[in-house]
Amino acid sequence: MPEGLITKAIAGFYYVQDGDVVRQCRARGVFKKQGINPLVGDRVVYTAIGGQEGVVEELLPRKNELVRPPLANIDQCVLTFSVKEPDFNPKLLDRMLVQVERESLPAVIVLTKVDLLADKEQAERFLHPYRDMGYQGAWVSTKSGAGVEQVRALLSGKLSGLSGNSGVGKSTLLNTLSPGLNLSIGEISQKLGRGKHTTRHSEIFRIFEDTFVIDTPGFATLEFAGMEPPILAQCFRDIWDLSHDCKYRSCLHEGEDGCAVRAGAEAGKMSPNRYAHYLEFLGELKEAKERR
Ligand code: GDP
Ligand code: ZN
Repeated sequence: MPEGLITKAIAGFYYVQDGDVVRQCRARGVFKKQGINPLVGDRVVYTAIGGQEGVVEELLPRKNELVRPPLANIDQCVLTFSVKEPDFNPKLLDRMLVQVERESLPAVIVLTKVDLLADKEQAERFLHPYRDMGYQGAWVSTKSGAGVEQVRALLSGKLSGLSGNSGVGKSTLLNTLSPGLNLSIGEISQKLGRGKHTTRHSEIFRIFEDTFVIDTPGFATLEFAGMEPPILAQCFRDIWDLSHDCKYRSCLHEGEDGCAVRAGAEAGKMSPNRYAHYLEFLGELKEAKERR
């Protein structure tokens, strides 16, 4: 039987993409009986009915599952930031990385609009601390075409969750990678369901061959809902590495006696900005915990 990918789920219908064809499918009643909820991102076995419809027969095993937004089989999260207009925002990047680390997903950082930098090396300098921590990154200009192939290679063959504030150039980038998508400028937010007036639903877009993207607005949210303060350090790779030498296991790295993280930050072993962001986020978590 043929296999496909659920790209959208609305009102009991699952839209299953197999190659160029998208079919509107119902799920077998047995799913409901077993309490199984097919998710956007699920790979499924289906039976075709005519040219445009079908029935979902079986879910293939999931690699992973996100709760917010409800998605299966995300391979990586692509965190998109412009270098200018608006300026690169390292604090928001660190916030998003916390969310991605919390889900144990790989993160890829894409810097856009590098044609607006007088000094091209600046993009690499932005990326440098993140590359050092093992994150993949690339910079791109859809205007000059620089870096487009690097971004294509990072996305290729994967289902990527795409995060980034509106205006950073996501629609333009996707159109460049996949002219057939024909997103109008500024449209991605609507198409990907971020529009204020559209009903919120997740939808996967095929950009080329076996390469898909989906909006992951949850990763742009500014709150770390319900996170316990000690978990935060585990979501900062650089801090986690240094923390193994802290004197106390309960160390929250705020400068306690024998804290290797503070010492490391002061000695230039990690980015002072990242450490400042950690302390700020930690303060937020503690405050949120007190309110609970
Ligand atoms: P989105 O909201 O993230 O989808 O952003 P858009 O793709 O709609 O782009 C927002 C604005 O940035 C538009 O005016 C684009 O023309 C502009 N833009 C996109 N990519 C580039 C780029 O590589 N260089 C420059 N200079 N502007 C860009
Ligand atoms: Zn410490």
